[in-house]
Amino acid sequence: MSTRPTGAAGGGRLARLQSFDATDLGAVARRRLQLWALTLFLLVSTVVILSLAHLTTWLSSRLAGSGLTIYIAVIVLVVLFSIYTILKELELRSLTEKLIDERVLAAALASSLREAHALSDSGGDIGCRLDLHQMLETVLDCAVELLAADGGSIMLLQDGNELQTVCSAGRSAARGARVSFSQGIAGQVAASREPMLVLGVFDWEHYRDEADAPRPSSALCVPLLASNDLVGVLNLNAKAERPFSEGHLRALAAFGDHAGAAIARARRNDEQRLRSDQARHQAMHDPLTGLPNRALFLDRVSNAIARRRPEGRAVVILLLDLDDFKRVNDSLGHSAGDQVLIALAERLRKSVRAGDSVAHLGGDEFGILLEAIDAAEATAAANRIHGDLAKPFPIEGREVRFSASIGIALEHAGDVRADELIRNAVTALHSAKGRGKGQVAVFEQSMHSSALDRLDLEHDLRHALEGQGLDVYFQPLMQIPDLEVHGFEALVRWHHPTKGLVSAMNFVPLAEEAGLQPLIDRMVLQRTCAKVVELNAGILAGLPAAAHVNLSPTSLNEPDFVANLSADIAASGLEPSQLVLEITESVIMHDMEQAASKLRAVKSLGVRLALDDFGTGYSSLSYLRRFPVDVVKIDRMFVDEIEKDDGAAALVQAILRLGKGLGFEVVAEGIETEAQMMRLVELGCMYGQGYFLARPLSSTELSRFLSGIRRAS
Ligand code: C2E
Ligand code: MG
Ligand code: MG
Repeated sequence: MSTRPTGAAGGGRLARLQSFDATDLGAVARRRLQLWALTLFLLVSTVVILSLAHLTTWLSSRLAGSGLTIYIAVIVLVVLFSIYTILKELELRSLTEKLIDERVLAAALASSLREAHALSDSGGDIGCRLDLHQMLETVLDCAVELLAADGGSIMLLQDGNELQTVCSAGRSAARGARVSFSQGIAGQVAASREPMLVLGVFDWEHYRDEADAPRPSSALCVPLLASNDLVGVLNLNAKAERPFSEGHLRALAAFGDHAGAAIARARRNDEQRLRSDQARHQAMHDPLTGLPNRALFLDRVSNAIARRRPEGRAVVILLLDLDDFKRVNDSLGHSAGDQVLIALAERLRKSVRAGDSVAHLGGDEFGILLEAIDAAEATAAANRIHGDLAKPFPIEGREVRFSASIGIALEHAGDVRADELIRNAVTALHSAKGRGKGQVAVFEQSMHSSALDRLDLEHDLRHALEGQGLDVYFQPLMQIPDLEVHGFEALVRWHHPTKGLVSAMNFVPLAEEAGLQPLIDRMVLQRTCAKVVELNAGILAGLPAAAHVNLSPTSLNEPDFVANLSADIAASGLEPSQLVLEITESVIMHDMEQAASKLRAVKSLGVRLALDDFGTGYSSLSYLRRFPVDVVKIDRMFVDEIEKDDGAAALVQAILRLGKGLGFEVVAEGIETEAQMMRLVELGCMYGQGYFLARPLSSTELSRFLSGIRRAS
C-alpha cells in the first residue's frame, strides 16, 4: 500500500518548522488536558447535584416513571460524552507528540544540511569545498541517522531518463544499479516528482538477493530538486520495528529540496575543479608524453635548489638530446617520430630513481633532475641512461636504435639560479654534441666562453651574408690522364674581419645550425651560374665545362627550392646540363621520399647530380641504384690510402666498374700527389680534383688558370 503526504513540501516550510518551539507545544497540550478535566469535573458535579435534588423530589412526590428514565438517560449521555472527550484528547495528545517529533527531526535535518551547505560553499577556494561524493555521503548519512533508517541510497539522474545509484548506506541498492523512469518506487517518484511513503512489506527489486534478511516494512522516497530541475531521488527504508510515518515523509521531502540544491552545487564545484585541474595539468605537462614541460621542470629545479639537501649533495641536471632524431622524423614520418618520443619518455621514466624527475623540454630534448655527490656520480647516471637507450625501439614494425648526447650541470652551493643551471646544461650538451654522437659532457666555465664565441661567430656570419663578406672560390676538376679542364667546384669562403679567409668546412656546420645555409647555397649558385656564363662567352667558348655546386640538406628541404633553382638558372641564361649539384648521403637520409621526388624534379630541369664524399657515412651502394646520380665523387680518404691500402684501391675499382655499368662518371677527390694520380689513372679513373691539380681559386685566379691551360693546349 502506498500513501502520498498531503500538501507539497515547500522550501520555505522548513525554515518555519525550525522556529517552532517543541517545549511550548507540550505545555499547551498539558494545559488543554487540565482544562478538559476541569470542564468534565464541573459537568459531572452539576449532573450529580441536579440528580440528587430531583431524586429527593421524585421519591416524595412519586412522580411518573417516564421522568426518571429521562434523568437516567441524560446522566448516561453526559458520562459517555465525557469518556469520548477524554479518549479524543488522548489521541490528540499522541498526535501532538508525533508532530513535535517531526518538527524536531526536520530541524535536525536542516541543521545537518546547513553544515554540508557551508562546507560545499566555503570560501572562494574550490579545493576546500565538499566534492560531489562527500556531499552525497553527508546527505545520505544525515538522513539515515536522523530518521533511524535501516539503509538508504541516492540515485542521480543519468542521460535524462535513467537513475543510477551513486551512493548507498546500510541495507540498500548496490552502487551502480540503474533503473529507468517509472520503474520501481524511485522511477515513479522521479517521473511524478512527488514524495512517496510505502507502507507494509514490499517486494523491492533491490532486496530480492537477500532472501534471508527481513524485508523492510516501509520506505520513503523523495525527489531531489534544484531550481525545479530533477537531480535524483533519495530512498530510505525503515527497520521492521520502527516503520516510517507521513511525518517522516514530510520532513524528508523538505530536506530533499535543500539536499537537491546542495548536490547540484557540489556537482558544479566538481566540474569546475576538474576543469581547473585539467587546465593546470595541461599548462604544466607535455601533451604527447605526459611528462612535465619546461615550465614545470624549471619550477622543480628552483625548488630543488632552494631545498635543504644532505651535506655534500648537489642538484644535477642532465639534458638529453637524441642524435639523428630528425632522420627518423623525416624518413618514417612524424607519427613514428612521436612514437619514438613516447617510448623514450617511458624508458627514461623507468631509468631514473624514485624522486628523480624527468621532463620533456620540447622536440627531442629531455631534462632529468636528480641529486648526486659529484660529477662522477652524475656521469654514471648518464651512462646508465645511455645503456637503457641502447636497446632498440620497436617502431612501426622496425627496430630503431638511437644514441643520445647528454649535457650535465651541477649546483652545490645554492648560488646558481634554476635558469642559469639549465643554460649551463645546454652549453654542456652542445659541447657533447660537438664531440660526436652518444657523448656525455659535464659543464665547465670554459665551455661558456666557447659558446659565446659561437654566438659571436653566428652574428658575424649573418653580417657577412648581408654584406660582401662571403666569396665563392672555384677548384678545377681535371681529366687526369691528359690534364684537360673538365669543370670546377664552387666552394664558399668567408672573409672574416679578424680571422682572415675562413674555409667552408669551418663555418658551414654553424651556418646549417643557424639556418643560414640555404641563403648561402643560393648565393653560391647564382654567382657560379654568372661565372660560367662569363667563361662560356670567353675563355671556355666551345668547351662547356661542368660547374659543381654543393647543396646542403636544409637547402633541398626549402619548399621553394626547385622553383628557385629553375628561376636562377633561367635568369643567368646558363645551359642547365652544365650545372652539377653535389649532394651528400645526409641529403638523401634526411627524408628519403621527399629527397627522391625533389631530386627527380631537379633532374627534369636538365641539371645533373653528383654524390659527394662517397665512401664515408653509410655509403650504401643501393643509393647509387635508387637515386639518379650522374657523378660519384670518391672521398679524399680513399685517395689518401690508395697507394698503401689494397682495400682502398679495390673499392675505387669497384666504384669505377659500377660507374661503367650504371653509366655515371667517377671523380677522385683530394689528389695531393703525382703518385696518387698515377695510381688512379692505372685503375682507370678519368677525372680528379685536388691540391696537386689545382687549389680552390678566386674568380680572377680561375680565369687566369683556365686561360693558361687553354694557351698550353
Ligand atoms: P667538398 O664538397 O668535398 O669539397 C672539397 C673540400 O676538400 C674543400 O674544402 C676543398 O678545399 C678540399 N680539398 C680539395 N682538394 C683537396 C686536397 O687535395 N686535400 C685536402 N686536404 N683538401 C682538399 P672546403 O672548401 O673547406 O669545403 C669543405 C666542405 O664544405 C665541402 O666538401 C662541402 O661539403 C662543404 N661546402 C663547401 N662549399 C659549400 C657550399 O657552397 N655549400 C654547401 N652546402 N657546402 C659547401
Ligand atoms: Mg663537394
Ligand atoms: Mg667532397
